[in-house]
Amino acid sequence: MSKFDVSENGFFGRYGGAYIPEILHKCVEELQKQYRQIIDSQDFQEEFNQLLRDYVGRPSPLYLSQSLSRTHNCRVYLKREDLNHTGAHKINNAIGQILVARRMGKKRIVAETGAGQHGVATATVCALMGMPCVVYMGETDVMRQRPNVEKMRLLGAEVVPVKSGNKTLKDACNEAIRDWCCHPDDTFYLIGSTMGPHPYPDMVARLQSVISAEIKQQLLEKEGRESPDYLVACIGGGSNAAGTVFHFLDDDKVRILYAEAGGKGVGTGMTAATLNAGTEGVLHGFRSLVMQDEDGQILEPYSISAGLDYPGVGPLHAHLVKIGRAEALAVKDNEALAAAFELNRTDGILPALESAHALAALHRVTFRPKDVVVVTLSGRGDKDMDTYLKYAPQGNCPSDYASLLKAIKAQTEK
Ligand SMILES: *Cc1c(COP(=O)(O)O)cnc(C)c1O
Repeated sequence: MSKFDVSENGFFGRYGGAYIPEILHKCVEELQKQYRQIIDSQDFQEEFNQLLRDYVGRPSPLYLSQSLSRTHNCRVYLKREDLNHTGAHKINNAIGQILVARRMGKKRIVAETGAGQHGVATATVCALMGMPCVVYMGETDVMRQRPNVEKMRLLGAEVVPVKSGNKTLKDACNEAIRDWCCHPDDTFYLIGSTMGPHPYPDMVARLQSVISAEIKQQLLEKEGRESPDYLVACIGGGSNAAGTVFHFLDDDKVRILYAEAGGKGVGTGMTAATLNAGTEGVLHGFRSLVMQDEDGQILEPYSISAGLDYPGVGPLHAHLVKIGRAEALAVKDNEALAAAFELNRTDGILPALESAHALAALHRVTFRPKDVVVVTLSGRGDKDMDTYLKYAPQGNCPSDYASLLKAIKAQTEK
């Protein structure tokens, strides 16, 4: 039991709940009744943990970066979710949910995807389990993220381009929900983050909580104590963040920093920093902070990183920030790019652009030499090569953050 556990009807403080059309009541209620029992069963835990170990490659390493530790004058560890099969943390959740779907007798999987990372993770587990898979993806994203679209198709998934709205993630969610409404009996909606109607935010957090369970054990081995002084994670919908903080929430000494996508700056309108710029509203079946205008029209979010480009945020995180348990920093595009190049130069690790937001957040904090800081590296950067090449400094790439920021600004202004 944690004081941050979801309430009976799906709320974290004011946020969460299940705001769904009548037609989905029966299947959402069925899931609400069964998910804890399924996930907590020995049979599920055995199959889940075996797949996490042998298929995903867990536990993911906890790596002490000497260079980041020097730079920030403390001890900086990276939780290496980038080393997972398919290149990010998303596979943990996809495996967990497909095992839940099978135990509920569902025959068909639908999912939404933005950049295609969750779509690829879902298509992957559907191939593994031999289940038909339909992935909804905004038409704009289909064109921007070709390689992931091809990957999903090769995995046997049907990718449906969504032509409504701005043709991005928000519209893909709407379409996936519409499909689910048409096939509530045989179809399972495999949501990619800690969002959607109850019980999804709680279920996804629990499936990703393997991240913080491992951090505890690994810190005990390496530092002689289970808890760090800081946890840092990037946040879109909030699944890698939820996994990172889950087992540390009740330990007030552990400070939690979220790096959300500031885009070009919170005041510019070109941002996806929901925790800083959002207001209370309902989107995709849950109440949370949402980017919207005075009439409740959803504002189009913007970030250089497709995985953080969402106009809402998981209700758990909205609650944690509201009550001051977690702090949300809006990290700009340029800062994320500089932090990505920095890690690549100093440690030979090219992070995903999303994860780079968490690394950039380190530069906003003054640490004490004894501080143990764990940053979750949610994914690897291969998928972002085009963007990185576009902004890479000309000539020799510097390795320090300040010079990198300057070089990137020069590139951007050109
Ligand atoms: C999708 C994605 C994210 C953002 O999603 P969360 O649910 O907020 O974790 C972050 N990092 C990577 C690598 C992703 O693919």
